[in-house]
Amino acid sequence: MKKNAADIWEDLKGQVDFLSEAGAGFVLKTEGNADRGGPPPESPRLEATASPLPSLAGLPAQTAAERKALEEIDKQVLVCRLCPLHRLRTKAVPGEGSRSAELMFIGEGPGRDEDAQGRPFVGRAGQLLRKIIAAMKFHEDEVYITNMVKCRPPDNRIPHREEEEACSPYLIRQIELIRPRVIVLLGKTPTDWFLPSRQGMTSRRGHFGDYRGIPVMPTFHPSYLIRNEGNREIKRMVWDDMQKVMALLGRK
Ligand code: SF4
Repeated sequence: MKKNAADIWEDLKGQVDFLSEAGAGFVLKTEGNADRGGPPPESPRLEATASPLPSLAGLPAQTAAERKALEEIDKQVLVCRLCPLHRLRTKAVPGEGSRSAELMFIGEGPGRDEDAQGRPFVGRAGQLLRKIIAAMKFHEDEVYITNMVKCRPPDNRIPHREEEEACSPYLIRQIELIRPRVIVLLGKTPTDWFLPSRQGMTSRRGHFGDYRGIPVMPTFHPSYLIRNEGNREIKRMVWDDMQKVMALLGRK
């Protein structure tokens, strides 16, 4: 898609803003400074691949049938009522971005703005995530952004384990079909799911884990950065983590 001057300016501005806030002036230099109506239809139950789950590394390129399967997941999510979260949602949020993305971001769950629009990461934290993506030299259409649960938990509470378990087959199938080269886990909820540990996020962030042959990088959730807006150290840590992801993807 051809970008107009305003789009290009917004991309550059987002990149510069994030890098500047993260204290990455040296990077700037090298960059040239540059339903609530009637009951929904019955949800089909999506089965996750039987355990143990096979490695996804080195599989052949995605097929047309697999791209079609991803569209089917979106349709199933939109009418899903496998867990109680469907009762209070306005719109379910399957995810968005490239269906053959080499980089996938997984957050916790939709918030108020996401619930209203049916799109992931469109609120304030989402705007920051999109700045980070631009700073990583990716266009947001190139990556895939989704969440552990596809419907908004009330009052933005942390999803319950049963809700994550009910929703996880959708996420697992998305990963299996997209087969990203790297996954970034945004915050404690997805990190606890993929890389269970008793350690806090400060210890776990910045260290690659493994999900079926795919490197997974835990880092802080953008909303945590916003809650700690004046803390440059947290921004620096997130930027360090993203630089490791960029290096693995050959984007540095
Ligand atoms: Fe279905 Fe997931 Fe929404 Fe629960 S959160 S109703 S499992 S799509």
